[in-house]
Amino acid sequence: MQAVAIACQITRAVQERLQEVTALTKDDRSPVTVADYAAQAIVALTLQDMLEDPADHRIVGEEDALGLADEESAVVRRAIVEVVQHWRNGIEEQEVLAAIDSCDHDGTADTYWTLDPVDGTKGFLRGQQYAIALGRIEHGRVVAGVMGCPALPVSQDAPLDTPDPQGVLYAAAEGQGAWEFAGCDPEAQRLRIQARPGQDGRPWRFCGSVEKAHSNRSDSDRVAEIVGNVGEPVRLDSQCKYAMVARGQADAYLRLPTRAGYVEKIWDHAAGSVIAREAGAIVTDIHGRPLDFGQGARLEGNRGVICASPDVHGCIIGAIDQLGIDAESKD
Ligand code: AMP
Ligand code: MG
Repeated sequence: MQAVAIACQITRAVQERLQEVTALTKDDRSPVTVADYAAQAIVALTLQDMLEDPADHRIVGEEDALGLADEESAVVRRAIVEVVQHWRNGIEEQEVLAAIDSCDHDGTADTYWTLDPVDGTKGFLRGQQYAIALGRIEHGRVVAGVMGCPALPVSQDAPLDTPDPQGVLYAAAEGQGAWEFAGCDPEAQRLRIQARPGQDGRPWRFCGSVEKAHSNRSDSDRVAEIVGNVGEPVRLDSQCKYAMVARGQADAYLRLPTRAGYVEKIWDHAAGSVIAREAGAIVTDIHGRPLDFGQGARLEGNRGVICASPDVHGCIIGAIDQLGIDAESKD
Protein backbone atom coordinates (compact mmCIF):
# COMPACT_ATOMS: atom_id res chain seq x y z
CA MET A 1 0.00 0.00 0.00
CA GLN A 2 2.90 2.26 0.84
CA ALA A 3 4.35 1.82 -2.66
CA VAL A 4 1.11 2.79 -4.37
CA ALA A 5 0.48 5.68 -1.96
CA ILE A 6 3.84 7.26 -2.87
CA ALA A 7 3.18 6.60 -6.55
CA CYS A 8 -0.09 8.55 -6.14
CA GLN A 9 1.85 11.55 -4.87
CA ILE A 10 4.20 11.30 -7.83
CA THR A 11 1.55 11.13 -10.50
CA ARG A 12 -0.37 13.95 -8.85
CA ALA A 13 2.75 16.12 -8.74
CA VAL A 14 3.34 15.48 -12.45
CA GLN A 15 -0.30 16.15 -13.26
CA GLU A 16 -0.11 19.50 -11.50
CA ARG A 17 2.83 20.36 -13.76
CA LEU A 18 1.30 19.04 -17.00
CA GLN A 19 1.81 22.23 -18.98
CA GLU A 20 5.31 22.76 -17.66
CA VAL A 21 6.51 19.28 -18.62
CA THR A 22 4.83 19.49 -22.03
CA ALA A 23 6.46 22.85 -22.72
CA LEU A 24 9.85 21.48 -21.72
CA THR A 25 9.73 18.53 -24.10
CA LYS A 26 7.34 19.89 -26.76
CA ASP A 27 5.57 16.56 -26.74
CA ASP A 28 1.98 16.17 -25.51
CA ARG A 29 2.56 12.68 -24.21
CA SER A 30 5.66 13.35 -22.15
CA PRO A 31 3.88 14.16 -18.86
CA VAL A 32 2.32 10.72 -18.87
CA THR A 33 5.68 9.19 -19.78
CA VAL A 34 7.32 10.92 -16.83
CA ALA A 35 4.52 9.93 -14.44
CA ASP A 36 4.42 6.34 -15.75
CA TYR A 37 8.14 5.66 -15.42
CA ALA A 38 8.61 7.51 -12.12
CA ALA A 39 5.65 5.70 -10.54
CA GLN A 40 6.87 2.33 -11.84
CA ALA A 41 10.37 2.99 -10.44
CA ILE A 42 9.04 3.95 -7.00
CA VAL A 43 6.76 0.93 -6.74
CA ALA A 44 9.61 -1.43 -7.75
CA LEU A 45 12.08 0.20 -5.33
CA THR A 46 9.58 0.12 -2.46
CA LEU A 47 8.80 -3.58 -2.98
CA GLN A 48 12.55 -4.31 -3.11
CA ASP A 49 12.99 -2.49 0.23
CA MET A 50 10.06 -4.10 1.97
CA LEU A 51 10.31 -7.70 0.77
CA GLU A 52 13.45 -9.74 1.29
CA ASP A 53 12.84 -12.62 -1.10
CA PRO A 54 13.94 -11.74 -4.68
CA ALA A 55 11.05 -13.90 -5.92
CA ASP A 56 8.76 -11.24 -4.43
CA HIS A 57 10.36 -8.56 -6.62
CA ARG A 58 8.98 -10.04 -9.85
CA ILE A 59 6.72 -7.50 -11.53
CA VAL A 60 4.91 -7.63 -14.84
CA GLY A 61 4.89 -3.91 -15.55
CA GLU A 62 3.48 -2.01 -18.47
CA GLU A 63 6.65 -0.01 -19.15
CA ASP A 64 10.29 -0.82 -19.92
CA ALA A 65 13.21 1.61 -20.04
CA LEU A 66 14.24 0.68 -23.60
CA GLY A 67 12.63 3.73 -25.15
CA LEU A 68 14.45 6.01 -22.71
CA ALA A 69 18.00 5.17 -23.71
CA ASP A 70 18.50 7.46 -26.73
CA GLU A 71 19.69 11.06 -26.79
CA GLU A 72 16.22 12.35 -27.76
CA SER A 73 14.81 11.07 -24.48
CA ALA A 74 17.44 12.85 -22.37
CA VAL A 75 15.03 15.58 -21.17
CA VAL A 76 12.30 13.09 -20.24
CA ARG A 77 14.87 10.80 -18.60
CA ARG A 78 16.18 13.67 -16.49
CA ALA A 79 12.65 14.67 -15.50
CA ILE A 80 11.90 11.09 -14.38
CA VAL A 81 15.08 10.86 -12.32
CA GLU A 82 14.40 14.27 -10.78
CA VAL A 83 10.89 13.21 -9.74
CA VAL A 84 12.13 9.92 -8.23
CA GLN A 85 14.95 11.75 -6.41
CA HIS A 86 12.35 13.86 -4.67
CA TRP A 87 11.27 10.71 -2.83
CA ARG A 88 14.63 8.87 -2.82
CA ASN A 89 17.37 11.28 -1.96
CA GLY A 90 20.58 10.85 -3.95
CA ILE A 91 19.41 7.96 -6.15
CA GLU A 92 21.42 7.73 -9.42
CA GLU A 93 19.96 7.63 -12.93
CA GLN A 94 21.24 4.09 -13.46
CA GLU A 95 19.42 2.85 -10.37
CA VAL A 96 16.18 4.47 -11.51
CA LEU A 97 16.45 2.90 -14.98
CA ALA A 98 17.30 -0.48 -13.42
CA ALA A 99 14.21 -0.26 -11.21
CA ILE A 100 12.02 0.49 -14.23
CA ASP A 101 13.53 -2.41 -16.14
CA SER A 102 13.12 -4.78 -13.20
CA CYS A 103 9.39 -4.83 -13.99
CA ASP A 104 9.98 -7.02 -17.05
CA HIS A 105 8.68 -10.32 -15.74
CA ASP A 106 6.61 -12.19 -18.33
CA GLY A 107 3.98 -13.63 -16.01
CA THR A 108 5.12 -17.25 -16.23
CA ALA A 109 6.20 -17.71 -12.58
CA ASP A 110 3.79 -19.07 -9.96
CA THR A 111 3.78 -15.79 -8.06
CA TYR A 112 4.36 -12.21 -9.16
CA TRP A 113 3.00 -8.67 -9.10
CA THR A 114 1.48 -6.84 -12.00
CA LEU A 115 1.58 -3.08 -12.21
CA ASP A 116 -0.03 -0.42 -14.33
CA PRO A 117 1.77 2.71 -13.12
CA VAL A 118 -0.68 5.06 -14.84
CA ASP A 119 -3.79 3.27 -16.00
CA GLY A 120 -6.08 5.47 -18.07
CA THR A 121 -3.34 7.62 -19.61
CA LYS A 122 -5.89 9.52 -21.70
CA GLY A 123 -7.75 10.47 -18.51
CA PHE A 124 -4.49 11.55 -16.91
CA LEU A 125 -3.74 13.86 -19.84
CA ARG A 126 -7.27 15.27 -19.86
CA GLY A 127 -6.98 16.04 -16.14
CA GLN A 128 -9.63 13.44 -15.35
CA GLN A 129 -9.58 9.95 -13.82
CA TYR A 130 -6.64 7.55 -13.80
CA ALA A 131 -5.29 4.89 -11.44
CA ILE A 132 -2.11 3.29 -10.15
CA ALA A 133 -2.89 -0.39 -10.02
CA LEU A 134 -0.83 -3.12 -8.33
CA GLY A 135 -2.10 -6.70 -8.23
CA ARG A 136 -0.62 -9.82 -6.64
CA ILE A 137 -1.03 -13.01 -8.65
CA GLU A 138 -0.50 -16.46 -7.18
CA HIS A 139 -1.09 -19.62 -9.19
CA GLY A 140 -3.30 -17.91 -11.74
CA ARG A 141 -5.47 -16.04 -9.23
CA VAL A 142 -5.36 -12.43 -8.11
CA VAL A 143 -5.00 -12.73 -4.33
CA ALA A 144 -4.51 -9.06 -3.44
CA GLY A 145 -4.69 -5.65 -5.03
CA VAL A 146 -4.02 -2.02 -4.27
CA MET A 147 -5.37 0.75 -6.44
CA GLY A 148 -4.65 4.43 -6.05
CA CYS A 149 -7.19 6.76 -7.64
CA PRO A 150 -5.51 10.14 -7.09
CA ALA A 151 -8.22 12.17 -8.84
CA LEU A 152 -11.31 10.28 -7.64
CA PRO A 153 -13.47 12.15 -5.10
CA VAL A 154 -14.19 10.12 -2.01
CA SER A 155 -17.66 11.69 -1.97
CA GLN A 156 -19.97 9.82 -4.31
CA ASP A 157 -21.95 13.02 -4.92
CA ALA A 158 -19.00 14.95 -6.36
CA PRO A 159 -18.56 15.28 -10.15
CA LEU A 160 -16.19 12.73 -11.69
CA ASP A 161 -14.86 14.82 -14.55
CA THR A 162 -12.90 17.30 -12.45
CA PRO A 163 -9.90 15.93 -10.57
CA ASP A 164 -10.23 15.75 -6.80
CA PRO A 165 -7.25 17.14 -4.87
CA GLN A 166 -7.30 14.29 -2.32
CA GLY A 167 -8.12 11.12 -4.19
CA VAL A 168 -8.80 7.74 -2.68
CA LEU A 169 -6.98 4.44 -2.29
CA TYR A 170 -8.48 0.93 -2.38
CA ALA A 171 -7.03 -2.31 -1.11
CA ALA A 172 -8.29 -5.88 -0.99
CA ALA A 173 -6.96 -9.30 -0.12
CA GLU A 174 -8.67 -12.57 -0.86
CA GLY A 175 -11.18 -13.42 1.86
CA GLN A 176 -10.58 -10.17 3.75
CA GLY A 177 -12.92 -7.72 2.06
CA ALA A 178 -12.25 -4.48 0.19
CA TRP A 179 -11.31 -1.25 1.89
CA GLU A 180 -11.27 2.46 1.09
CA PHE A 181 -8.68 4.96 2.37
CA ALA A 182 -9.57 8.62 1.87
CA GLY A 183 -6.86 10.97 0.62
CA CYS A 184 -4.77 8.09 -0.82
CA ASP A 185 -3.47 7.76 2.74
CA PRO A 186 -2.87 4.20 4.01
CA GLU A 187 -2.88 5.61 7.56
CA ALA A 188 -6.37 7.06 7.16
CA GLN A 189 -9.26 5.31 8.89
CA ARG A 190 -10.24 2.48 6.57
CA LEU A 191 -13.79 2.02 5.44
CA ARG A 192 -15.20 -1.29 4.24
CA ILE A 193 -16.82 -1.00 0.82
CA GLN A 194 -19.60 -3.09 -0.65
CA ALA A 195 -21.18 -3.46 -4.07
CA ARG A 196 -24.72 -2.03 -4.32
CA PRO A 197 -27.41 -4.61 -3.56
CA GLY A 198 -30.82 -4.72 -5.25
CA GLN A 199 -32.43 -2.07 -7.41
CA ASP A 200 -35.12 -0.55 -5.17
CA GLY A 201 -37.04 0.84 -8.13
CA ARG A 202 -34.24 3.17 -9.29
CA PRO A 203 -32.59 2.74 -12.70
CA TRP A 204 -29.46 0.61 -12.91
CA ARG A 205 -26.29 2.62 -13.30
CA PHE A 206 -23.71 1.25 -15.75
CA CYS A 207 -20.22 2.63 -16.33
CA GLY A 208 -17.75 2.28 -19.17
CA SER A 209 -14.73 3.77 -20.93
CA VAL A 210 -14.48 7.33 -22.16
CA GLU A 211 -12.44 6.07 -25.13
CA LYS A 212 -14.68 4.65 -27.85
CA ALA A 213 -11.90 2.32 -28.99
CA HIS A 214 -11.74 0.52 -25.62
CA SER A 215 -15.33 -0.68 -25.28
CA ASN A 216 -18.16 -1.02 -27.77
CA ARG A 217 -20.75 1.63 -26.93
CA SER A 218 -23.50 0.56 -29.30
CA ASP A 219 -23.33 -3.01 -27.96
CA SER A 220 -23.49 -1.61 -24.39
CA ASP A 221 -26.61 0.35 -25.35
CA ARG A 222 -28.22 -2.79 -26.82
CA VAL A 223 -27.42 -4.75 -23.64
CA ALA A 224 -28.89 -1.94 -21.48
CA GLU A 225 -32.04 -1.98 -23.62
CA ILE A 226 -32.59 -5.69 -22.95
CA VAL A 227 -31.71 -5.49 -19.22
CA GLY A 228 -34.23 -2.62 -18.94
CA ASN A 229 -34.49 0.39 -16.65
CA VAL A 230 -30.86 1.44 -17.16
CA GLY A 231 -29.96 5.13 -16.74
CA GLU A 232 -27.45 7.17 -18.75
CA PRO A 233 -24.05 5.46 -18.64
CA VAL A 234 -21.25 7.02 -16.59
CA ARG A 235 -17.99 7.33 -18.51
CA LEU A 236 -14.61 7.43 -16.85
CA ASP A 237 -11.09 6.26 -17.64
CA SER A 238 -9.04 3.58 -15.91
CA GLN A 239 -9.74 0.88 -13.31
CA CYS A 240 -11.55 3.51 -11.25
CA LYS A 241 -14.56 1.84 -12.93
CA TYR A 242 -13.99 -1.26 -10.77
CA ALA A 243 -13.96 1.02 -7.71
CA MET A 244 -17.27 2.57 -8.83
CA VAL A 245 -18.90 -0.87 -8.68
CA ALA A 246 -16.99 -1.93 -5.55
CA ARG A 247 -18.12 1.08 -3.56
CA GLY A 248 -21.71 0.86 -4.77
CA GLN A 249 -21.64 3.99 -6.93
CA ALA A 250 -22.45 2.02 -10.07
CA ASP A 251 -24.13 -1.34 -10.57
CA ALA A 252 -21.96 -2.55 -13.43
CA TYR A 253 -18.83 -1.93 -15.45
CA LEU A 254 -19.17 -3.13 -19.05
CA ARG A 255 -16.13 -3.63 -21.27
CA LEU A 256 -17.36 -5.07 -24.55
CA PRO A 257 -14.82 -5.92 -27.27
CA THR A 258 -14.37 -3.43 -30.09
CA ARG A 259 -12.26 -5.61 -32.32
CA ALA A 260 -11.57 -9.30 -32.91
CA GLY A 261 -7.87 -9.52 -32.06
CA TYR A 262 -7.66 -7.49 -28.85
CA VAL A 263 -6.64 -9.43 -25.75
CA GLU A 264 -6.96 -7.66 -22.37
CA LYS A 265 -3.75 -7.08 -20.37
CA ILE A 266 -3.44 -8.42 -16.80
CA TRP A 267 -2.29 -5.05 -15.41
CA ASP A 268 -5.51 -3.43 -16.62
CA HIS A 269 -7.64 -5.78 -14.49
CA ALA A 270 -5.73 -7.51 -11.67
CA ALA A 271 -6.04 -4.90 -8.91
CA GLY A 272 -9.49 -3.64 -9.88
CA SER A 273 -11.03 -7.08 -10.22
CA VAL A 274 -9.94 -8.35 -6.78
CA ILE A 275 -11.16 -5.14 -5.14
CA ALA A 276 -14.56 -5.49 -6.83
CA ARG A 277 -14.77 -9.21 -6.06
CA GLU A 278 -13.96 -8.69 -2.38
CA ALA A 279 -16.65 -5.99 -2.28
CA GLY A 280 -19.18 -8.61 -3.36
CA ALA A 281 -19.31 -7.93 -7.11
CA ILE A 282 -19.03 -10.65 -9.74
CA VAL A 283 -16.22 -10.25 -12.28
CA THR A 284 -16.19 -12.36 -15.45
CA ASP A 285 -15.60 -11.93 -19.15
CA ILE A 286 -18.56 -11.14 -21.43
CA HIS A 287 -19.46 -14.84 -21.70
CA GLY A 288 -19.56 -15.31 -17.92
CA ARG A 289 -16.16 -17.03 -17.64
CA PRO A 290 -13.99 -16.09 -14.64
CA LEU A 291 -10.94 -13.99 -15.59
CA ASP A 292 -8.01 -16.40 -15.92
CA PHE A 293 -4.79 -14.79 -14.69
CA GLY A 294 -2.76 -17.93 -15.30
CA GLN A 295 -1.99 -17.28 -18.98
CA GLY A 296 0.97 -14.88 -18.75
CA ALA A 297 0.77 -11.16 -19.32
CA ARG A 298 -2.56 -11.22 -21.14
CA LEU A 299 -6.01 -12.64 -20.44
CA GLU A 300 -5.73 -15.08 -23.35
CA GLY A 301 -8.72 -17.14 -22.27
CA ASN A 302 -11.16 -14.24 -21.94
CA ARG A 303 -13.01 -11.66 -24.00
CA GLY A 304 -13.93 -8.28 -22.53
CA VAL A 305 -15.04 -7.84 -18.91
CA ILE A 306 -18.32 -7.59 -17.02
CA CYS A 307 -18.03 -6.50 -13.39
CA ALA A 308 -21.39 -6.12 -11.69
CA SER A 309 -23.35 -6.57 -8.51
CA PRO A 310 -24.76 -10.11 -8.27
CA ASP A 311 -28.29 -8.76 -8.80
CA VAL A 312 -27.61 -7.58 -12.33
CA HIS A 313 -24.58 -9.57 -13.51
CA GLY A 314 -26.62 -12.51 -14.74
CA CYS A 315 -29.04 -10.25 -16.67
CA ILE A 316 -26.12 -8.61 -18.48
CA ILE A 317 -24.52 -11.93 -19.44
CA GLY A 318 -27.96 -13.17 -20.58
CA ALA A 319 -28.44 -10.07 -22.76
CA ILE A 320 -24.99 -10.49 -24.33
CA ASP A 321 -25.80 -14.11 -25.11
CA GLN A 322 -29.21 -13.22 -26.54
CA LEU A 323 -27.64 -10.57 -28.80
CA GLY A 324 -24.90 -12.98 -29.88
CA ILE A 325 -22.20 -10.43 -29.10
CA ASP A 326 -18.79 -11.90 -29.90
CA ALA A 327 -20.44 -15.33 -30.03
CA GLU A 328 -17.59 -16.93 -31.99
CA SER A 329 -15.20 -16.46 -29.03
CA LYS A 330 -17.48 -18.30 -26.64
CA ASP A 331 -15.92 -21.75 -26.68
P1 AMP B 1 -9.99 2.56 -20.11
O1 AMP B 1 -9.34 3.67 -19.36
O2 AMP B 1 -10.87 1.70 -19.26
O3 AMP B 1 -10.66 3.02 -21.36
O4 AMP B 1 -8.85 1.55 -20.54
C1 AMP B 1 -7.52 1.89 -20.69
C2 AMP B 1 -6.79 0.66 -21.15
O5 AMP B 1 -7.36 0.18 -22.36
C3 AMP B 1 -5.34 0.88 -21.48
O6 AMP B 1 -4.55 0.61 -20.36
C4 AMP B 1 -5.06 -0.11 -22.61
O7 AMP B 1 -4.22 -1.16 -22.17
C5 AMP B 1 -6.43 -0.68 -22.94
N1 AMP B 1 -6.75 -0.79 -24.39
C6 AMP B 1 -6.07 -0.34 -25.46
N2 AMP B 1 -6.68 -0.68 -26.61
C7 AMP B 1 -7.80 -1.38 -26.27
C8 AMP B 1 -8.85 -2.02 -27.03
N3 AMP B 1 -8.89 -1.99 -28.35
N4 AMP B 1 -9.82 -2.66 -26.33
C9 AMP B 1 -9.81 -2.67 -24.98
N5 AMP B 1 -8.85 -2.09 -24.24
C10 AMP B 1 -7.85 -1.45 -24.85
MG1 MG C 1 -3.73 0.57 -18.47
